[in-house]
This record gives sequence, C-alpha cells and structure tokens, in this order.
Amino acid sequence: MSVRSLLFTPGPLSTSLTVKEAMLKDMGSRDHVFINAVKDIRNGLLQLAHVGKEDGYECVIIQGSGTFAVESVISSVVGEKDKLLVLANGAYGERIVKMAVIHRLNHEVLRFDEDAVVTPEATEAFLKDHPGITHVACIHSETTTGLFNPVAEIGAVCKKYGKIFIVDAMSSFGGVAMDMKSMQIDFLVSSSNKCIEGVPGFAFALCKRSELEKAKGQARSLSLDLYDQWAGLEASGQFRFTPPTLSLMAFRQAMKELEEEGGIPARELRYKSNKQTLDEGMTALGFKQYLKPGIQGHIISSFLYPSDTGFNFERFYEKLNKRGFVIYPGKLSRANAFRIGNIGQIFPDDVKALLIAIEEVLKEERLKM
Ligand SMILES: *Cc1c(COP(=O)(O)O)cnc(C)c1O
Repeated sequence: MSVRSLLFTPGPLSTSLTVKEAMLKDMGSRDHVFINAVKDIRNGLLQLAHVGKEDGYECVIIQGSGTFAVESVISSVVGEKDKLLVLANGAYGERIVKMAVIHRLNHEVLRFDEDAVVTPEATEAFLKDHPGITHVACIHSETTTGLFNPVAEIGAVCKKYGKIFIVDAMSSFGGVAMDMKSMQIDFLVSSSNKCIEGVPGFAFALCKRSELEKAKGQARSLSLDLYDQWAGLEASGQFRFTPPTLSLMAFRQAMKELEEEGGIPARELRYKSNKQTLDEGMTALGFKQYLKPGIQGHIISSFLYPSDTGFNFERFYEKLNKRGFVIYPGKLSRANAFRIGNIGQIFPDDVKALLIAIEEVLKEERLKM
C-alpha cells in the first residue's frame, strides 16, 4: 500500500496530517490538558451553531459513532407519555424509526420518497391530525441521497405547534451554516468524523438546556443516558466512562484548522466548489444524477449506474481504490446508484484527479455512456 488514499465518502473522511499528528501523545483522561481540550471543544461546538451556555444551550459529547448520539437523544428525551414523529425520506430517517421501535417509544412515521424532500406543509398537516405528538425528528442532509431537507421551515412548524425539534445534522454540521436558535432546533446531533474533519471516536448533541433537564431519569440505557453524560461532564469536566482521548485531541486540532480556513462559510464554499467540479466532470463523462438539482445538497452526490449492462460496481470501485480513490456504494431502495462525497480534506484538484481516474476506468472497462 504505497498510494495515499483519498476518501470521497460520507465519513470517515480524509483528514489533515496535523489532525492525525495531534494523536501522537498518550493522554490520560484526567490530564488537565485533556480536560481543557474537552471544555474548548464543547464551547467551540456551541459557537459553531451560533449559541452558547449563556443563552441556554449545552454540548454533550457521547463516545461512539454518530448513531450513538442520535440514539442517546432519541432514547433519553422522549418520555413515557410523549410521542415522537419521525420524518423519513432515506436510510437515516429509517434508522431513527428502528431506535423508536427498539426503545418502545410511542411514535409515528411520516414517509416521503427518497428523491423528495420532507415538506413543512405535510408535516404541519400531520401535526394537526395528531395532537398527541410532542417531539419531531428529522434528518438535515439525508446522506442516503445527498438531499437537504428544509429544516428551518420544519423548525418553524414545530415551534408553531409547540413541539420539541430533534435534527440529525450528522453529515452537514460544519459544512453548512446553521443557526440553532433561528432554526428552532432543540437537539442537534453530529459527529467527530464528518465536516469538522476529525477522526472517528465520538459524536455530540447540542441541546437546549431547559429540554435537556427534562430528560433526567428517563433514559432507557445507562451508557446512552444523555442527561447523566451531561451532568458528569458538568460536575468534573470528565466522562463517566473511558473517553476517546486521542480522537478528542485530534478534534481540537481540527476545530482550529476549521477556524484557520475561515470558519464554516469558507468550508462551505470549498465543499461547494468540490461538488461543482465533480458534477461538471461527471456530466461530461456521461453520468446522470439521481436527484433533481433543486434539492441536492453539497455534501454528497448520488450518480446512477451507467445504462451499459457491462457496468459492475464492485470492479469500478476496486479499480478506483487501487488508484487511491475511495468512493461509496449506494443505499437506495429503488434505484442503482453510487455516491461520491464532497467533504473532508479534499480540494477541487483532488476531485479533478478522481475524475481522471474515473475516465481511465470507464475506458478500461470499455463502457458506453
Ligand atoms: C454518518 C451519518 C450518521 C451516523 O452514522 P455512524 O456510522 O453511526 O457514524 C447518521 N446520520 C447521518 C445523516 C449520517 O450521514
């Protein structure tokens, strides 16, 4: 393995050398350097969402991958007498439905097609018909396809009807400007290895404190108890159970690099130019996208398989892999597509290099586009 691999995936992503280097020093979980890093990270993440402790928001870090933090929120904040509405238009929405089933939560699901956004109108109509609903959960960037759901508009509907709004912004937070307060989000979840460009190891929930406090004593799992995790961090600055120390040290470095890049607005621009370079190049090669342009986000793009029956995704994937480019299979229920991520430490020139490799593979495979 000599070639450097570039990850064009939805996470884990390519990270900078300096982020990886931040993990070279063994770190005890009670080391004050570590405890201060955790404090900086928690405050810094709130700032990235344009909120802070002073206006009633808290950041809770959860060990594990992104799903762990989504499950921590879902299984901690929806009480026994509450009812959750899941807005689903892809695999990640369905994952929240699975959590609701496993934790035996009262819940309803409002489904939309995978190639359509969740609409505020349908959400409002559903809430009118189901007054028992107390919480609404929605995915921001549905990584299944790459579409962006209109979370600000859905948040306004939630506010109007007095519902708690939970947003899985896993693949978009850090790569899209988001103001938690104006978007009416009560719980926003993301993870270390997406747009902040850290390494895997933990996820986090940004929470409205008054709602977080209501979760006291109602968790359905010890390790995923959101309130207890928060209370532990607040009391001593420490985690209840072994934290991913090195992943957190890398993340602090990643946050510094995000700031040096020019913050979220600059990163958003870089990802958008990655996407533009990718889309133009793929169109020139003859590929078609799964989603209509109007609903596409700039995090990840879904491309339909070529119509040529000789196309074999496994071979296509392997040949790109050998050239140092890792792409991502599809996860659609009704169409054959693969995905290419625009996020991580990748730049338009890397995308151009990927496009050249794709062109080579298409030629080698003698595919007619
Ligand atoms: C990546 C991602 C997750 C979390 O996935 P993990 O594999 O648990 O990290 C959740 N929701 C969305 C929308 C994602 O893109």
